[in-house]
Amino acid sequence: RAKAAGRNRACTFDARIETEALEKHRLVQALQLAVAREEFHLAYQPKVNGRTGEVTGAEALLRWTPGGQAVPPATFIPLIEDLGLMPQLGTWVLRAACRQARQWQAAGRDLRVAVNVSAVQLRDPGFVQTVRDALRGADLPAALLELEVTESVLMREVTQVRAVLCELQDLGVCTSIDDFGTGYSSLSYLHSLSLNVLKIDRTFVNGAMNDPRSDALLRSIVSLARALNLDLTAEGVETEAERQHLLEIGCEAMQGHLFAAPLTPEGLARYLDLN
Ligand code: C2E
Ligand code: MG
Ligand code: MG
Ligand code: MG
Repeated sequence: RAKAAGRNRACTFDARIETEALEKHRLVQALQLAVAREEFHLAYQPKVNGRTGEVTGAEALLRWTPGGQAVPPATFIPLIEDLGLMPQLGTWVLRAACRQARQWQAAGRDLRVAVNVSAVQLRDPGFVQTVRDALRGADLPAALLELEVTESVLMREVTQVRAVLCELQDLGVCTSIDDFGTGYSSLSYLHSLSLNVLKIDRTFVNGAMNDPRSDALLRSIVSLARALNLDLTAEGVETEAERQHLLEIGCEAMQGHLFAAPLTPEGLARYLDLN
């Protein structure tokens, strides 16, 4: 009886693995098609001055909704990277975001668009040229483009990163360190990089309200940014209490559901009161 039960368990386990493998296979096939057909779109989350409410820019966030069902970027981006399609999709994101920012500019709003850049893109020797082409193609001033690189990527790609960030700086593009506080960057290394903005990971923003130690970390990140002469943006601001607290400790630039979720271009236009 025990043996039979064991066999049964093994059976259902195998079946589950098989189903998962099949699902992943379907997902991969659908993704390959989607990349070829450029069936993605971008959502834009406003970046605001938390004191005045003024919108200063927006972060472009990749969206894939096959059959109307959204698949989270955390699920499909790693698959895209495994498939080797990230340089291609990343270039599409860059171009689309630059064109969107050019439209905002044409409508009289100089909003800076922020684009997330993955490790594979940074590693590509043609990356800076791709950025230059996207700016020229959209007729967008470099100062209206911000590139966000996560702290963990900055830490892994040490040799390429320094040179690429330097070239982007020369181009006039704004560079940010994303999800700061979740990696293990050394201060001297950070100091040696051409960066403009430090984005505080939302775990510190959310944690600070309930936990004195998180708050101490949040405050030390704020003073670190000051010491390194970096601008600050707090991500994932969800409550009025968090907004107040951030203002008190000297961080004005914010992003989060308290202000707006990632929006469609039309939604953003409405948010800006353009229409
Ligand atoms: P990220 O760059 O740190 O983007 C912020 C994430 O936090 C977004 O998730 C956003 O929807 C979410 N968020 C914004 N405000 C709040 C809030 O108040 N509360 C909470 N709980 N979450 C908030 P999303 O869109 O699922 O993107 C996840 C990650 O996927 C991004 O994190 C980024 O690392 C990556 N990603 C998204 N688009 C791209 C892209 O075009 N290229 C690359 N390489 N990565 C991307
Ligand atoms: Mg980001
Ligand atoms: Mg982030
Ligand atoms: Mg984050």
